[in-house]
Amino acid sequence: MGALTLQGVTKTFGTTKVIQGVDLEVRDGEFCVFVGPSGCGKSTLLRMIAGLEDVSSGDVRIDGTRVNDVAPAKREIAMVFQSYALYPHLTVRDNMGLALKQAGKSKAEIRDATDRAAGMLALEPLMERRPAELSGGQRQRVAIGRAIVRVPKLFLFDEPLSNLDAALRVATRIEIARLHRDLGATMVYVTHDQVEAMTLADRIVVLRAGKVEQVGAPMELYNDPANTFVAGFIGSPQ
Ligand code: ADP
Ligand code: MG
Repeated sequence: MGALTLQGVTKTFGTTKVIQGVDLEVRDGEFCVFVGPSGCGKSTLLRMIAGLEDVSSGDVRIDGTRVNDVAPAKREIAMVFQSYALYPHLTVRDNMGLALKQAGKSKAEIRDATDRAAGMLALEPLMERRPAELSGGQRQRVAIGRAIVRVPKLFLFDEPLSNLDAALRVATRIEIARLHRDLGATMVYVTHDQVEAMTLADRIVVLRAGKVEQVGAPMELYNDPANTFVAGFIGSPQ
């Protein structure tokens, strides 16, 4: 459960319309990747889905229910950002379990959920460390772990690998693909990296200046790009 629908979604900052009317259906369990150049509105779109930013017009629906006026914490969404934003004074386990603690879960429930997430991400040996004692890649795995302890309906990733070096980027990308397989959850993943988009996506949404330029499976876009912009972005021969 976690289908996402955007209907005529716009966003205006001041007098600038940065999202110009986006219509999109993300199927339950789908891995959907948003690509597009810097400033095209990828993060803004994700933040509106998460409820961190108001929608100027249009509807956001999760499993058919309009969530425009639903608080972020009530949307059953987990978001992983580019910057990990872990609490430095808390251990890995406490960072991962914080949302559950705030939701009033028991100690046993929190331990079970954090153990499960740690197992999926090979974090078991690190659970009692603090963020300063971790590498960048380990911190990003903890940030992903924090997102998966709650088993949300929908995962949102905003360029989660862009602060990692090349080798870690590949390893973490493989881990995210495995998580998608294991959890069967709907994932919306923002990147400006062609390789990430081509390897992770069931479908790619190409955005340009706040509009959807083309939507399709990676090889559809590669073989049949709608225009030179899409071809350039996906890396099709031109
Ligand atoms: P992307 O993630 O694709 O790089 P963003 O969604 O961050 O793009 O930004 C889209 C556009 O909206 C950019 O022109 C950016 O400057 C503008 N923008 C984003 N957030 C705000 C804000 N809080 N106030 C004003 N303009 C913003
Ligand atoms: Mg962004």
